Parts: sequence; structure tokens; C-alpha cells
Amino acid sequence: MSRDMMPSFELYQPDTLEGALKLSKDLDKDGWLVAGGQDSYDWFKDRAKRPGALVDLSGIAALKGIREKDGGLEIGALSTLTEIAESEVVKSKYTVLARAAARVASPQIRNAATLGGNLCQDARCWYYRAGVDCYRAGGNTCYADTPQGQNREHCLFGASRCIAVTPSDTAPAVVALEGTLVIAGPQGERVVAAEEFFIGPAVDITRMTILKPGEIVTAVRLPAKWAGAKFYFEKVTDRATWDFALVNVAAALIMDGTTIKDARVVCGAVECIPRRLKAVEQAIIGQPQNDETAMVAGRIAAQGATPVQYNGYKVPLMENLVRRAVRDS
Ligand SMILES: Cc1cc2nc3c(=O)[nH]c(=O)nc-3n(C[C@H](O)[C@H](O)[C@H](O)COP(=O)(O)OP(=O)(O)OC[C@H]3O[C@@H](n4cnc5c(N)ncnc54)[C@H](O)[C@@H]3O)c2cc1C
Ligand code: SF4
Repeated sequence: MSRDMMPSFELYQPDTLEGALKLSKDLDKDGWLVAGGQDSYDWFKDRAKRPGALVDLSGIAALKGIREKDGGLEIGALSTLTEIAESEVVKSKYTVLARAAARVASPQIRNAATLGGNLCQDARCWYYRAGVDCYRAGGNTCYADTPQGQNREHCLFGASRCIAVTPSDTAPAVVALEGTLVIAGPQGERVVAAEEFFIGPAVDITRMTILKPGEIVTAVRLPAKWAGAKFYFEKVTDRATWDFALVNVAAALIMDGTTIKDARVVCGAVECIPRRLKAVEQAIIGQPQNDETAMVAGRIAAQGATPVQYNGYKVPLMENLVRRAVRDS
């Protein structure tokens, strides 16, 4: 059989959130939520993950749409990245998220891929995606962290047996915007800060988020506080076509004249979770937005980094991205 054909599975297409939650509960470990499928289908085609049934969320109208809420925005988890990148209200109030969404993958993938799926996507470590039995897959070794390991995409911070990074471009933007995720589950609804949503391998090596089985992200909320702030997003990739970030940065600055009154600076692809740079934020708040402040920010951006064999280049890359983010927001 060709490896391009997906193994068969049952397909459920609920049109209500309640229906999807019930299906997830009933199917338990045999079920798999699918939104745009752009992360999931790779797993199935490679036969590295083989759920018995898919719960397709794409027919649930309640999970779609971009709405104003409490002076901020509520973005349905099933909104596509194209919708977010092209939304006038996202572009005018929270440009950093529109720019991040616009830098994901290719136009075709952004047309199908959703914000919820982008935030919930799994690690992209080559070894893990190839289906090997590494720590993250429940085995007892890390293939990337060996003398022969290919690890130039891997982490600078937060290693704990696994050295994979968050591959999401929108995650740093949502954390920079102090976003929250609305999560529906068997026990009802909970709202979680984006900063708490992502988890590293020291917390649970088999998951990238706090989502429990059967839980569904219904929306992402962005608070009024950061609407219309000064923003910066930059992503560096190996190739000038679709590619995952080697490092990306999302920044939000609130100004008082020429002085930085408040700031959030977050890097992706340097840790398993989006890395909020609190030391940088503290160093720049109360300072003028100029070259000198940007230089200080760059100097401390990667403090504490512990590169592995082939990813040392990420340290100056991160420093320069943060310097530019503070100078050019
Ligand atoms: C060629 C290629 C290039 C790519 N390049 C990039 C890139 O540059 N940057 C980047 O960030 N990503 C990239 N990706 C990854 C992919 O584009 C994103 O992960 C995409 O946004 C996933 O969204 P989706 O809706 O298609 O997810 P799906 O595949 O449907 O879901 C992904 C995961 O999230 C879970 N999930 C989805 N929605 C929900 C929800 N509402 N609640 C709970 N769980 C949910 C699913 O169960 C699954 O585990 C790339 C993918 C491909 C194939
Ligand atoms: S970095 Fe993590 S995902 Fe990659 S091989 Fe090591 S344990 Fe597996």
C-alpha cells in the first residue's frame, strides 16, 4: 500500500459543541479532534498516529467568527489563519497576530489551518514526526540530543529529556497580547491565560498544552489593554518559502510619549513553550524607545541559554530579533 494513503478511520461531523464534547468523551483515546487537519493529516499519512475516529470540528458555527468583546476581541478557535491575517479589526487593533498568522506555512495551508489548531499543534522534531520511540513518544531516549543528533532546530531553554521547541507562529503573538483561551470540557468551561496554556517537557513530556482529553478550545480572547499598542513580529526561516521558524519574536509596547510604559516580548522556537522575556520587559519599561534601550534588550534576551550541539547560532539570532523588536515596534 502506498504510504501516501491514510489508513481508514471513522469520521464524525458534529454541528454543535455539545455534540463534539459528547463524541470526544465517548470515543475517549480512540478519538482525535481535527480542525483544519494541517498538523493531524501528516501524522495519519505517516502512520505515526492512528486514531480510530476523527471528530471534525469544522461544522460547528459557534467556534467560528471574530467578535468585539469588552473592548477587545474574541476569535473563534476555528477561524482560519487567512481570515485572521486578512481581518480588518485584527489588523487595526492587534497587528502582531495578523502578521504572525500571515507568516505561517503557505497560502493553501493558511486557508485550511485554524488558530486553535495552530496553538494546539504538536512538536515538529524530525525524529518524533518520523514515528520513532523517543521520550516524547513514550520511549527512553532522545535521538536529537546525541552527538550524531540533528538538532539545529531545537531548544535553547527548558530542556528536560526532550529538546523540541514550540513550532507555532501565532503562539508568541497571543502570549504577547496577554491572550486567554476559552476551553470547553466535560466539567464545563474554563478560561486560561495563553502563558499558562503551553507546557514544557518537565511538566508533561507527551503533551504541548494543558488540554485534558475531551477538552476543546472554543475561542481566543485578546484584552482591550493591548489594542492599538505598538507591535513587532519577525520570523527567521532557513528558506524564503513555507518553513517553520528558526526563531520568531512577537512584541507589544504601550508608550507614554517616547517612554515605554508597558511591554511584552515573546520568542518562539527557542523553548518548548513560547518564551516570555520578562528580564527584557523589566529592562525596557520606563526607558525611551531608542537604539540604546534596544541594545540592552538584545544583550539580555538570551541570558541562560544552553545550546545543544548545532543550534548555537540561535543565540545571536534571538538577541538580534529582540533588539530589532524593541527598536522598531
Ligand atoms: C507544510 C507545512 C508547513 C507548516 N508551516 C508552519 C509554520 O510555518 N508555522 C506554524 O505555526 N505552523 C506551520 N505548520 C503547521 C500547521 O500549519 C499549523 O499547525 C496549523 O495551524 C494547524 O491548524 P489546523 O487547524 O490545520 O490543525 P489540526 O491538524 O486540525 O489540529 C492540530 C492539533 O490541534 C488539535 N486541535 C485543533 N483544534 C482544536 C481545538 N479547537 N481544541 C482542541 N484541540 C484542537 C488537534 O486535535 C490536533 O492535535 C505547517 C504545516 C505544514 C503541513
Ligand atoms: S527532541 Fe523530543 S521529540 Fe525530538 S527526539 Fe528528542 S525527545 Fe523526541
